[in-house]
Amino acid sequence: MKTFEKNIRKVEPYVPGEQPQRKVIKLNTNENPYPPAPGVERALKSMDTDRMRLYPDPTAGELVKALADYYHVGENQVFVGVGSDDVLSMCFLTFFNSEKPVLFPDVTYSFYKIWAELYRIPYELCPLDEDFRIVKEDYFRDNGGIIFPNPNAPTGLYMELGDVEDIISHNQDVIVIVDEAYIDFAGKSALELIEKYENVIVVQTFSKARAMAGMRIGYAVGNPLLIKYLNDAKYSFNSYTMNQTALVCGAEAVKDKEYFEEGIRKIIKTREWAKEELLKLGFSFLDSKANFIFATHPDYDAKELFEALKDNGIYVRYWGGGRISQYLRITVGTKEEMDALFGFLRSYMMQ
Ligand SMILES: *Cc1c(COP(=O)(O)O)cnc(C)c1O
Repeated sequence: MKTFEKNIRKVEPYVPGEQPQRKVIKLNTNENPYPPAPGVERALKSMDTDRMRLYPDPTAGELVKALADYYHVGENQVFVGVGSDDVLSMCFLTFFNSEKPVLFPDVTYSFYKIWAELYRIPYELCPLDEDFRIVKEDYFRDNGGIIFPNPNAPTGLYMELGDVEDIISHNQDVIVIVDEAYIDFAGKSALELIEKYENVIVVQTFSKARAMAGMRIGYAVGNPLLIKYLNDAKYSFNSYTMNQTALVCGAEAVKDKEYFEEGIRKIIKTREWAKEELLKLGFSFLDSKANFIFATHPDYDAKELFEALKDNGIYVRYWGGGRISQYLRITVGTKEEMDALFGFLRSYMMQ
């Protein structure tokens, strides 16, 4: 090791799901199989490229206002960032400054551990129970902050809002972040708790239900004090995080509630049908309320299955290791994409 390396911040980076550049059936990173709202294409076509000379609005006002209107909150209650990864990373930096450990589940979004290590935040993992459920009582103890996704990833399991509230109400001296990347496919959002509890931040994204992963838009909603602290941190990092195109397209997407809800209905319908098909093939899986299914098969090794699928142009997500070593996470695509998946699995299993 070179001497200068001693003072270099070393991190083990997050490994994102593969983004193959050839045409494949892509069920590996929980993208939406349908296009964004039609208004987004129109907005994009009428964009003035001369506007690109100028810096974008650092307050991201247009997008913040669209989101505030949509969720019936104040504009000072919304923070936007470059995907919810950016928002969550800012939240770690801003809210998790205790010497006490931040708590999150052992099986969850793997980025949490990476941000904790990057920012040198102490953390402790709270193991899911044998059914892969979050045990809320594990969070009823002294800590430096809490974060968990609801539904959890990659399990897809949704925690009832009453249980989420229990975690928040037992932890009013720290910040509780609820990562709702998949909430639109699931059930009640913790957004309705932000007036009741000052210590909760709800983070959502345009990447899943809003079909705009490529635009990189995420947001946090909470009380104005927390949003102010987040903005202070953001302005100390990079004032112009949101590009002009993302601001315009994001605001446009939010306006089309009907299209958004219709897309969610289609995905939920395909998800429930896909569960039946998986069952017929002998898979067992968790009762996901997200746009993916976390499945295992008693007779087929997950890694071999993952590789066989990939060789045939069907990408799903596989991590390996620990309790999830025999699980695959399969994004819910279109009915046609899922038919191709099941067609392959049926022939693979008949060999
Ligand atoms: C997809 C995902 C995110 C981040 O998505 P962005 O594309 O950065 O908005 C955050 N949390 C969880 C649990 C996710 O699955």
